[in-house]
Amino acid sequence: MKLRAFLILIPLLLAHGVHAAELRTRNVILITVDGLRWQEVFRGAEELLLNSTNGGVGNVPRLRSAFWRDSETERRTALLPFFWSTVAQQGQLYGNTNRGSSAQVTNGRKFTYPGFNEIFTGFADDRINSNAKRDNPNVTVLEWLHRKPAFAGRAVAFANWDTHFHIFNARRSGIPTWTGYINTLEFAPGSPLALIDQLHRDITPLWPDMDFDVFYLHALLEYLPQAKPRLVWLGLSEPDEWAHEGRYDHYLFAAHRMDAYLRRLWETVQSLPEYRDQTTLIVTPDHGRGSGPTEWRNHGAAVDGAENIWIAVLGPDTPPLGERSNIAPVFQNQIAATLASLLGEDYAGAVPKAGRPLTDALPK
Ligand SMILES: [Zn+2]
Repeated sequence: MKLRAFLILIPLLLAHGVHAAELRTRNVILITVDGLRWQEVFRGAEELLLNSTNGGVGNVPRLRSAFWRDSETERRTALLPFFWSTVAQQGQLYGNTNRGSSAQVTNGRKFTYPGFNEIFTGFADDRINSNAKRDNPNVTVLEWLHRKPAFAGRAVAFANWDTHFHIFNARRSGIPTWTGYINTLEFAPGSPLALIDQLHRDITPLWPDMDFDVFYLHALLEYLPQAKPRLVWLGLSEPDEWAHEGRYDHYLFAAHRMDAYLRRLWETVQSLPEYRDQTTLIVTPDHGRGSGPTEWRNHGAAVDGAENIWIAVLGPDTPPLGERSNIAPVFQNQIAATLASLLGEDYAGAVPKAGRPLTDALPK
């Protein structure tokens, strides 16, 4: 490179906060897992809840055989094998408070819309105080990126819950979104995606406004190689719902399936030339939950411990530091800027009230 060209580049590199030229990430997939506790991620199944009294478990021997092991290491590996093989080996996991790694929400409300707003925008917003189906007045980091030419028309969202359409402000953002209930993403008649949409309509509805996570995973797996989006949000919701219903068995199986979905997604990503070694996964819940025989079901401002979350990052730019321990606390409001920084974009600079990027998740 000629010296003059290099001198022109310097301010651009500095403006990005990290040396964009050194980044390998070209695509980011944000996976949210509604209400999955850090306790299960880092400790595996909890014995106190492996019964019908506290956990509403239908078949205790089956659940114990699937997820109960004598040591914590074995338990968490049985529950989340992809996390504890691939992510813990090649990526980073924040939030094991037992090992001096705290990850928390800052919004104080500890429920869904405020949590998603904080994930997406990098700041808590007092105006967001309910899960009402109202369009988010704030611009998400994905919408902010989508306004840039490099990402325009290269974003998509598959999100399990009709309210996500509003939290994400899908219409204003112009990002094609499929919740299964309200959609701006259209599927070609006769395509596998149209079949997934039809199955979603035809299955016996357990809930009025959300469904099984499997539809969203498969829709994304089908869509990814065709449209090659650079910004993806996959919103999974089952764990929160099963926990509210007091079904620890369904909650654990949903978490276990989530782990398998991530493996499938990661293998798909690594099999496609446009994504291989150029894609970062960020995985996180919107809030934690309480602990103990009944409070594990709940979350909200009054629930102790529901502020504790976890964050996983896996990609070519994130040093393989594995399960973090004895580090400064990290916060939900840092996810948006981290996501942008991995793409060489300075969201925290553009939105001063947003949390700073997780520097440990970025190249040195
Ligand atoms: Zn909930």
